[in-house]
Amino acid sequence: MNHLRCRTDILIVGAGMSGLAAAYKLTQSGREVLLLDKARGVGGRLGNRRFDGAIFDHGAQFMTARDDLFKDLAAGWKDKGIIKEWRDGEPVGSSDPRFRGSPTMSAIAKELGQNLATRLKSPVASIEQIGEEWSVTLQDGEHIQAKAVLMTPPVPQSLAILDAGNISIPKATRQRLDQIRYEKCFAVMALLEEPSRIPHPGYVKPEKGSIAWIADNQTKGISELPAVTIHATGEYSETNWERDRDEVARELINNAQEWLGSSVVKFQIHGWRYSKPATISANRCEIISQDPLLLIAGDAFSSARVEGAALSGWAAADTLLELGSNS
Ligand SMILES: Cc1cc2nc3c(=O)[nH]c(=O)nc-3n(C[C@H](O)[C@H](O)[C@H](O)COP(=O)(O)OP(=O)(O)OC[C@H]3O[C@@H](n4cnc5c(N)ncnc54)[C@H](O)[C@@H]3O)c2cc1C
Repeated sequence: MNHLRCRTDILIVGAGMSGLAAAYKLTQSGREVLLLDKARGVGGRLGNRRFDGAIFDHGAQFMTARDDLFKDLAAGWKDKGIIKEWRDGEPVGSSDPRFRGSPTMSAIAKELGQNLATRLKSPVASIEQIGEEWSVTLQDGEHIQAKAVLMTPPVPQSLAILDAGNISIPKATRQRLDQIRYEKCFAVMALLEEPSRIPHPGYVKPEKGSIAWIADNQTKGISELPAVTIHATGEYSETNWERDRDEVARELINNAQEWLGSSVVKFQIHGWRYSKPATISANRCEIISQDPLLLIAGDAFSSARVEGAALSGWAAADTLLELGSNS
């Protein structure tokens, strides 16, 4: 296939929270940025799904805002109605408000990404150095050249892209990156016949067993129809990852029955291979190469949260601005 070569100043792989936060900051600073994502929409793990009239947040359920700068951003989103406080039922001892996206968590990503140059359905296959620039190759064979690249997919996926292009990674950096592990998580989305038994404000965290979290998307204000999202524990998801997904979904629905209290009309299951990092790197982002610039960021470099992903993205943007000021 014959493709035109496209060129940009900074190319960011991944339009999840970390990629969007970095792109936003870099664009505000006057840099030319192009975001690429393999998915059909922005947001990554801030995902939602719809079927038969029901709507589900099936990835991140809420976000925190503890960092001062992130608090300011969240306050602006709250004023615009992009997020709403989802406060009651916080764990004892926590005074941090929780925010949910409005209508769904992906509203946060859409807001951040609305004026950013973004190409969706563009899976990146590899990256190679050509002269003083990077050449990023998409799975369909198209090449995009960039002076600097920021990788934000989960670390094993970023490493696979770098390895496909034989990018040399400093030994100590490689060791740190190889140590980063993620929990798996099954998310079962179930449309119910009747409203669930989950109390206000719409979630329970079972203390034991296969289930980590159940959210009621109706009480949460997302879905007009009764619809729950069941997240399995990391341990259950790991142990049962290779099993038939339909069987796993039925087992989790069965285990959640005391909170559902209704029959299930229809369900779907999604397996998050990289749901939350189980290990967090000491650095907010990693520099793979200084000349030309190549960085890795994401929640694994800050905290396993939406906010953590944004902080890592910002740190990467700062590094790109600082080290790339002459490019
Ligand atoms: C089930 C679940 C529940 C969670 N609950 C919460 C919660 O309640 N509160 C909270 O704060 N956090 C929660 N999190 C964590 C939170 O969602 C993440 O920390 C955060 O969204 C990570 O953002 P990111 O940008 O680092 O990564 P991602 O969101 O994973 O973004 C990476 C992006 O890279 C793209 N990509 C990957 N490979 C390629 C490729 N080859 N080419 C192009 N694009 C590619 C992906 O499509 C994706 O959009 C949860 C996560 C999950 C999965």
